[in-house]
Parts: sequence; C-alpha cells; structure tokens
Amino acid sequence: MARLSSRITGLTPGGDDGWGLFHRARALKAAGEPVLELTIGEHDIRTDPAILSAMDAAARGGHTGYAAVPGTQALRQAVADRLTASSGIPHGPENVLVTPGGQAALFTAHNAACDAGDVALLIDPYYATYPGTIRGVGALPRPVAARPEDGFQPREADLMAAADGARSLLINSPNNPTGAVYSDATLDGIARVAEAHDLWVISDEVYDTQVWTGRHQPFAGLLGMFERTLTVGSLSKSYAMTGSRLGWVAGPAEVIEHLINLATHTTYGVPGFIQDAGLFALRQGPEAEAAIAAPFLRRRDILLDALAKQQYLRATPPAGAMYVMLDVRATGLSGMAFGEALLDEENVAVMPGESFGAAAAGHIRVALTLPDEMFAEALERLFAFAARAVEARTTA
Ligand code: PLP
Repeated sequence: MARLSSRITGLTPGGDDGWGLFHRARALKAAGEPVLELTIGEHDIRTDPAILSAMDAAARGGHTGYAAVPGTQALRQAVADRLTASSGIPHGPENVLVTPGGQAALFTAHNAACDAGDVALLIDPYYATYPGTIRGVGALPRPVAARPEDGFQPREADLMAAADGARSLLINSPNNPTGAVYSDATLDGIARVAEAHDLWVISDEVYDTQVWTGRHQPFAGLLGMFERTLTVGSLSKSYAMTGSRLGWVAGPAEVIEHLINLATHTTYGVPGFIQDAGLFALRQGPEAEAAIAAPFLRRRDILLDALAKQQYLRATPPAGAMYVMLDVRATGLSGMAFGEALLDEENVAVMPGESFGAAAAGHIRVALTLPDEMFAEALERLFAFAARAVEARTTA
C-alpha cells in the first residue's frame, strides 16, 4: 500500500478512548441483550412525520439535483433570521453557509481559522470529536481544563495562560458532556482572552434549544465579538434530525465567501430536499423546539431526584443539554472501570468521562435518552451498582 498521510493516520490516537464501551454495548444489544443505553446524544423519538412529508414533497417535486452549494437562499435566510433574533446582531443569508450537520461546520470553521501547525484551543471536557476535527485541518489541539468545582465553567486566567500563540478557541455552551451553560462572567472572560490574543472563537451552539436554567447567550452577540466568531448550529438536536445531517456555520460575510469555496471543493453542499425539510422544520418555531427539548428537562429532574436519595455519587446539576455528568470518584473506580462493570453487572451502558478528556476522569456521562420509565429503571440499577462498589471498597 502506498504511504498514507500522517494527517489521516494521526487523526485519532491509538488505544481505547472510551468508545470501546459504546461499541460493546451496541454489540450486546445486536445480540439480543436487553441493554439500557444511555450513551450517545440521540433522541428516543424520531424526526416528526410532518418534516418527513415536507422532505418527501420536496424530493418528489424535483429538488433532487445539485442544490445551491452555500445552501438555498430561503434556508440561509431562515437561519439568519433565527441568529438575528437570538444574538441581536443583524444576520443575512450572506452570513450563513449550510453544511452537512454541525460536525462539518466545526471542520469548516477550523479550516478557516487555522493553518497547519497552528494551535487550536478547546475546553476539556469536550465533545469527543473535537481533537480529531482540529487535527483534521493539521492544527494542534491544546485543551484547557474546566474544573468540576467550578461547575465546569472555564477560568479566564487558565485560558489566558494557554492562549499564547493560539489561533482559535472552540467553546460549547450549552455544553456536551457537562451540561454547563456559560455564565455572563465566563463569556466576558472568553471575549477578553479572544481580544487579547486575537483569536477566532468557534462557538458550537448546537444545544441552544436545551437550556434549563439561565439563558442561552450567542457568543457572536457579545460586544465586538461578531467579527471574530464563527457560530456552529444544527437541526440535529433541536428538531430530532440527527440523520438528516443539516447544520450551518455563521460569521462575517467575507469568511463565509471563503467557506463556500471550501464547500465547493469538498461537500458540494447539502441535498436540496433535506434543506427544504429543514426550512419547514425551522418554520415550526420555538414551540416545536421546546416540545422536542422537554423530555430532557423531565429526565434531568428524574435523575436529580434519584441522586438526592443516595449518598455516593455527585453531579453538578446541568443547566442545559441532554446529559448529566456523574462524579463516581467515591467508588474508587475510574469512569472507564465504572462503565465497564456497570455494563457487565447491570446491563446499563453509559459513556466513561475519560472519553471526553482528562478533566472528566472519574466521571461518567449519562445521556437522558431513554423513555422516562426505562430511564428511571436504568438509574435504579446504576445507583445500586454504585452503592455496591462503595461497600466493596470499604470492606476490602
Ligand atoms: N457539537 C456537539 C457539542 C455535539 O454534541 C454534536 C453531536 O452530538 C455535534 C456538534 C454534531 O452534531 P451534528 O449532528 O449536527 O453533526
């Protein structure tokens, strides 16, 4: 075989990064084991049939040829309107590139910000694909730890200390995996770091419809930040459209022009009938988004109630998103060991904290993605397992 590029072979470092547990859970399920799965961020509902009807009508109506590479004008306008309303900064279609999901938007944004060899900052714990996305553009990921004792809000001083020589800073609020919604103080600190070090801020806001306490503040809406912010959004979480692969990157028109050029030479856009379905979805508005988000708040509360009735595990109550990080350090187990044994003994699958970075060690991430009764059953087993683990530790 001819030599492969180091960029592709080095995308993800070798070894088990925690996804082994996820794949094992999936294999067990496929073999018929009744595994209760609280792993990835996938709704337990499917895309609304009305959205699928819009998709079908668009395809049958002939929108199956090459679609406009930057996105259809109507969808770009609808995304721009949404961003104008949430950020208070006027956006037009020229500020939006439609992408195949938020993931492609993250890759696209880093392409705009970083040359090969540049340092790209990210906050640890992080969404599992972030380091690979950064390596994918040839840049070097530099994680900055956010601490559990701060509710996983990154400290300005830590960011400032890490930012020397960096070109970009990737933030994510509401946050996966921690559920943190960045406070005004945190966001202001990030803005000061970005200004002091002339950084691009890549603001991943795919969970903007899932906020339980506080409010979502788009980073581009902060004073002076629009010009240095690339905002990533998606319909995956807000409209249960994960499989449709529909997202966007938004920012200054001059940057979007370059990104359209990149899209022309990579994805060549997003299927027109998917974009039409996305436009139909966005026109349902905030009420539909709230209805899709509601089960996650309910289950977050089910979890916090159950947590209050036991004494071993702790959590920073998540202010947003569809996950809860549980601190399992009292069991003496790593997140990975806890997750493996929980799957073996209780048929419950979670994600080890370690798969989201070093700052999440000793934690597990519970996705709020099972119907309420099954979710409560999974929690019962999880807390029973934790109690046994602590007892075994104290009698050992
Ligand atoms: N960003 C974060 C923080 C996520 O958790 C996810 C998916 O789980 C994505 C981006 C990617 O979402 P999409 O399905 O839009 O590619």
